[in-house]
Amino acid sequence: MIFSAAQSQPNCGSSYKSNYRVAIIGGGPAGCACALALAQTGVTDIVIVEAGDYSQFRIGESISSETLLLMQALNIDQAFLQQNHAPCFGNCSYWGSDKRGYNDAIMNPLGHGWHLDRSKFNRFLAVQASERGVHLLTSTKLSGSIPDATGFNLTLTQSSAKNKKSVTIHADFVVDASGTRAVFARQRGSFKLNDLSLVCMAARFPLLNHDQLNDEKLNHDKEISGLTHIEAVEQGWWYGAHLPDRSLLLTFYSHAATVKAQRLQHTENWLALLAKATNSKSLIRSNQVADEIQSFVAPSYCLNQLSGRNWLAIGDAASAWDPITSQGITKAIANGIEAAQFIGSPENEFTFAQTIKKMHQNYLTMRSQLYQLEQRWPESSFWQKQHL
Ligand SMILES: Cc1cc2nc3c(=O)[nH]c(=O)nc-3n(C[C@H](O)[C@H](O)[C@H](O)COP(=O)(O)OP(=O)(O)OC[C@H]3O[C@@H](n4cnc5c(N)ncnc54)[C@H](O)[C@@H]3O)c2cc1C
Repeated sequence: MIFSAAQSQPNCGSSYKSNYRVAIIGGGPAGCACALALAQTGVTDIVIVEAGDYSQFRIGESISSETLLLMQALNIDQAFLQQNHAPCFGNCSYWGSDKRGYNDAIMNPLGHGWHLDRSKFNRFLAVQASERGVHLLTSTKLSGSIPDATGFNLTLTQSSAKNKKSVTIHADFVVDASGTRAVFARQRGSFKLNDLSLVCMAARFPLLNHDQLNDEKLNHDKEISGLTHIEAVEQGWWYGAHLPDRSLLLTFYSHAATVKAQRLQHTENWLALLAKATNSKSLIRSNQVADEIQSFVAPSYCLNQLSGRNWLAIGDAASAWDPITSQGITKAIANGIEAAQFIGSPENEFTFAQTIKKMHQNYLTMRSQLYQLEQRWPESSFWQKQHL
């Protein structure tokens, strides 16, 4: 499948070339940013291979104002602003104490961040790349890769409603931007180190109907709707954000064992847990969950090997950070931009990989400091593990 440059919607074409200068596996923020940055430096013959078609709900929506600077560097900032994602005016947190803490965007010279419609944002980045001449193959998965003297032969599986077909392309260089699947790097033998993954149990609550609200509730909703909410509880932490359609996303983060033991995939159990989180509970008006509870792995790790001959990994494929940092998207875009400067120079590619490793070490320190701030439940296995 391919987006042609003139289109702003996914297009189910099937043309592809047999040779590319750079193949980018994964059309998320890292892959699209890398493609845009490469195109900016005049590289042609770039293909993004994306397994999805940007139609499904994607989680991960908070970005800071700094992200706009990266979009400026890619010359897509004005187009982004026209997308009308919801402004995020800061964080409101109950972390380390039951007193509310604020981190207000008013203190930031760059202004507010955003709560994204994440699928729309990913699609936007992909369309921007295709408009700059990047081939975008959607509903197309990398399934195999074999190195040769000049790069890699890549086996791709294209799916449509009717059938699946396999095609082979050649690329001189491969960028693994496949997110936590790290599909290409793992085919090269890389594996994940320092796995500190959490599980996220998410529910969306329907659109607010202002007509049904009394004034007091309406004011409360207006006040809270532009903030990200964080609340630490004994078994994990809650996160809340209003999405651009004004639906409320509420998520609970904990260890897999807790999620399993408490059967949190069942709405009634999840709601019972929410009922104990005084502040997060106050964000919802009724127990009407928009859809079933969805679970996501929220990974934290770094690959042991981030680059090799004619390839490198970026974004979550290279190093994934706990969502408490809210920095995954910004990091992915920054990685994509930076990697584009180094592709084609093996020594620099190695240096870039070392930089990602160093950033991961800094992240581990920051993560540890963040979790150490919460000391209210010394007996809790969740917090004990997070403090290790
Ligand atoms: C629950 C949760 C909440 C989060 N919240 C936030 C947040 O609020 N703010 C924030 O900044 N970050 C957040 N993150 C992290 C953020 O989503 C990631 O850091 C970010 O998406 C990384 O971008 P990426 O481009 O590296 O990977 P991804 O966005 O994962 O993109 C990878 C792409 O590769 C494609 N792909 C996978 N396998 C293949 C294959 N075999 N062939 C072809 N394509 C393939 C996928 O379809 C996907 O589109 C959150 C993460 C989770 C799990």
